[in-house]
Amino acid sequence: MGIFDTHAHYLKRDFPEDLEEVLNGLKEKNVERIIAVGCNLEASEEEIALAQRYDIVYASAGIHPEDAGKLPSDWEERLGELLKMPKVVALGEIGLDYHYDDAPEKDVQRDVFIKQLEMAKAPDLPVIIHSRDACAETMEILREYKPRGVMHCFSYSAETAREVIKLGMYIGFTGVLTFKNAKKAVQACEEIPIDRLLLETDSPYMAPEPHRGERSDSSMIRFTAAKMAEIKGVSTEEMIEIANQNGRRLFFGE
Ligand SMILES: [Zn+2]
Ligand SMILES: [Zn+2]
Repeated sequence: MGIFDTHAHYLKRDFPEDLEEVLNGLKEKNVERIIAVGCNLEASEEEIALAQRYDIVYASAGIHPEDAGKLPSDWEERLGELLKMPKVVALGEIGLDYHYDDAPEKDVQRDVFIKQLEMAKAPDLPVIIHSRDACAETMEILREYKPRGVMHCFSYSAETAREVIKLGMYIGFTGVLTFKNAKKAVQACEEIPIDRLLLETDSPYMAPEPHRGERSDSSMIRFTAAKMAEIKGVSTEEMIEIANQNGRRLFFGE
């Protein structure tokens, strides 16, 4: 089995010259499947369009907390339509992000997050949760709504990881796991059962060492996989295989 990148953003904005080239080159770099994750209505449309063109690409649609402040009045209806499109396998990324001062108001973020958790119930879609500097409130909402899904780019403690696992969810790590100062992420990863771990790039961001700071793409996952393998005491190949199976189970029911 090849690499399953469960979280990437492939927008023309970030790959203005070479989007086609990058995507066409991934198969021979052992990338087998990608979820191109939406973060607002327009980006979700763009990712869904990519999924129609590339057989290895699947898509998700959702409103990221940073985009929760400027929504058209019919956003729920429009998102509902996007979720019905072919190859859309998840709702996300959604959640809370209190990192930036100019982020939308907390109650606006909360409202948009909860509305989307409700939307995921009816077609029973897995959700992709984004949560930064908002641990207590995110956990409170997850305990209440108990969605099926993943907490991506995990940045919280080992204790929180245990609780997320108890709720039945999966946890994804990006290249951050390979950073020299990633002690907290490594400790959290140690706590997580191997059958609940997902690999992701969050491309174009979060490139792993030794590519830190560069634009990332799905092929760079092997560096994150190598680090995760070391933490879990398996080979890199085994880790890629297990994370692939975990992703298939969550997003494709395989
Ligand atoms: Zn995110
Ligand atoms: Zn993302």
